[in-house]
Amino acid sequence: MLKSHTCGELRAEHIGQEVKLAGWVNRRRDYGSLVFVDLRDRWGVTQVVVDAGRSPEAKETVARIGHEYVLQIEGEVVARSPESVNDKLATGEIEIQARQVRILNPAKTPPFEISGDIEPGEETRMRWRYLDLRRERMQRNIILRHNAIWFIRRYLNERGFVEIETPILFKSTPEGARDYLVPSRVHPGKFYALPQSPQQLKQLLMVAGYEKYFQIARCFRDEDQRGDRQPEFTQLDMEMSFVERDDVLDLIESLMTAMIEEVSGRGVAKKPFPRLSYAEVIDRFGTDRPDIRFGLELTDIGKIVARSDFKVFTSTIEVGNKVRAIVAPNCAGYSRKDIADLEEIVKDAGAKGLATIAVQEDGTPKSSIAKFFADDLMQELIAAVGASPGDLILMVADVPSVVNEALSALRTEFGKRLNLVANGDLSFCWVIDFPLFEWNADEDRWDPSHHMFTSPKPEHVALLDTDPGKVLSQQYDLVCNGYEVAGGSIRIHDRNVQEKIFALIGLDVEQAKERFGHMLEAFEYGAPPHGGIAPGIDRLVMLMAGEPNIREVIAFPKSQRAADLMAGAPSEVDQQQLDDLHIKLADDIKPD
Ligand code: ASP
Repeated sequence: MLKSHTCGELRAEHIGQEVKLAGWVNRRRDYGSLVFVDLRDRWGVTQVVVDAGRSPEAKETVARIGHEYVLQIEGEVVARSPESVNDKLATGEIEIQARQVRILNPAKTPPFEISGDIEPGEETRMRWRYLDLRRERMQRNIILRHNAIWFIRRYLNERGFVEIETPILFKSTPEGARDYLVPSRVHPGKFYALPQSPQQLKQLLMVAGYEKYFQIARCFRDEDQRGDRQPEFTQLDMEMSFVERDDVLDLIESLMTAMIEEVSGRGVAKKPFPRLSYAEVIDRFGTDRPDIRFGLELTDIGKIVARSDFKVFTSTIEVGNKVRAIVAPNCAGYSRKDIADLEEIVKDAGAKGLATIAVQEDGTPKSSIAKFFADDLMQELIAAVGASPGDLILMVADVPSVVNEALSALRTEFGKRLNLVANGDLSFCWVIDFPLFEWNADEDRWDPSHHMFTSPKPEHVALLDTDPGKVLSQQYDLVCNGYEVAGGSIRIHDRNVQEKIFALIGLDVEQAKERFGHMLEAFEYGAPPHGGIAPGIDRLVMLMAGEPNIREVIAFPKSQRAADLMAGAPSEVDQQQLDDLHIKLADDIKPD
C-alpha cells in the first residue's frame, strides 16, 4: 500500500509514529520556510507541515504543487501546539512533520473548487461528475447509499430472503411508462425491452418456490424527467409467498425504521406508521402522497358556496364539480404580488384561478368575492374552514382532480414557507385501499392504478363484472415526507381473475397471450398466493441525506433531458453498427 493510514485516522495516540499518507491536496498555505498542506482522502483531512530547515527536498517539491495534486507523504505524527489544535477536524490534535513528499500525479486546475463552499452550477457538476463526486457532500451521500444497501442486504438475509438477479434484456414489463428498447442483431426487427421493474420475474420466482426474494434492482422507464425521476433508478425489489398484506407492511415498516435510525441517525416521526385509505388521503390532503408532518388539510366548501352569488363557484357546483379550501395561518397580510405567486402554483396544477379571503383582526373578511356572500354566509364559511383572525383562506373551484392537485401543491408550498417541515425526522404513512382501476377517457377503457398483476380485494372480485370502477385493490404505497417511497400489492394468482383484468384494460386473449402468455401459463402450475413491494432506493437515500433531488445520491445520474453530460450519452453510432442491428434512421433526423 502506498499509505499506512487514512487521512481521517490519526489521533493523539499516534504521536511519535512514522506514517505514510496518500491523497489529494485540499489546501496549501505557504509561509516561506514553512508550508502547510492539507491532504485529503475519503476518510478525512490531515495537516502536513513541510519545514525547509528539516527537509529541504520536500520543501522544494511542495513549492511546485497545486490543488488536487496527488501526493504521498512520509513523516512523523507530531502534536500540534495548543493554540493550533483544530477542534473542527477529527485529526485536529496532530499534524505530520514531513520527511519526504512524492508527487504521484499532478492535476490541472479543476473547473471548480473541490473543497470550497461554493456550489458549482448543475451543468458543470454533471460535465465533471468525477470531480463533483470528490466533494465532501457527494462522498457523504454516496457512502450513505452504500450503508443503506449494505444494511438492507444484511437485514433481509437474516430473515431468510434470497437475492436473485433477473435479466435486463427481457420483454416489456409495463409499469405505466414507455419502454426502453434494445434492438436484436440476431433476430432482425425484434427488440428486447429493458424492465420497468422485475415484476413478472419476481412473480415467476414465487411460482418457482423461492418464497422470499429480493434484489437491488435497476429499473428503466422512458418518461419525462422531474426532480425525483431518472430514466434508470434503483429499487429494493421484493416478493414473498404465502403472505397477507399486513405481513408485507410490518416487515417493511421494521426494515425502514431500523435502517433510518442506524444508517442516517435521523428519527422516524410516527411509529407505527399511520395507515390511511386512499379515499381518506385524497379527502384530507388532495393527494395520495400526503406529507403528514403538518395539518393545513383541505375542506370541502361546496355546500356553503352554492348559496352565494359568486357565479364561478355556483356554476362549478351545479355541474357536479368541487370547491375546496385550505387555510394559511397568519397570512392575511399577503400582498397582491404574494397572491399572484400562489396563483402561478395553482395554474401549474391546471386550475383556472385562485380565490382568497383574508380574515382581518376584527374577524371581517377582505376579499374581492366578499360582495357575493351575505354576511352570515361568509361567517359560516370562515367557521367551516376553521380560519381565525389573521388567516388567509385559499379556494379553488374545478373538477375534483384539478382542485385536489392545486390545493395539495399550495399545501406543500405553505409547509415550506411556514417552516412546518423543518425538523429532520422522516414521517411515513401507508396508503391502502386504492381503487383497482382508473378510467382512461382518451382510450375508453380502464387503466390499472398500480399494475395489472395487482389483486382486487377478495370481497370485490364479483364487482369486476358489474362495476369495475368500485373495485378496491390490495395495493399499498409507502409515503415519506410527501414522496412515494414504495409501492406494492398482493398479486393475482388465479388465471381467471388475471384474464378478466386483461380484458378490462383492453387486452384481448390473443394480445394477453402474446405479451404475458408465460405468466398465464405459470399460474396453471401451482402458483402460491404471493405479494411484494418495491421501495425506491434513490428516494429513500435522498430523504435520509436531506437532499432535494435524487441526482444528489446517484453517482452518475442523467440530466433533466436524460443525457449523460460527462460521457456524452446518448450519442450517434457508426453506420456499421446500425446495419448490424437492421436499423435505418429516418431521413429527417438531425444531430442535436
Ligand atoms: N413493480 C412495482 C413497481 O415497480 C412494485 C411492486 O408491485 O412490487 O412499482
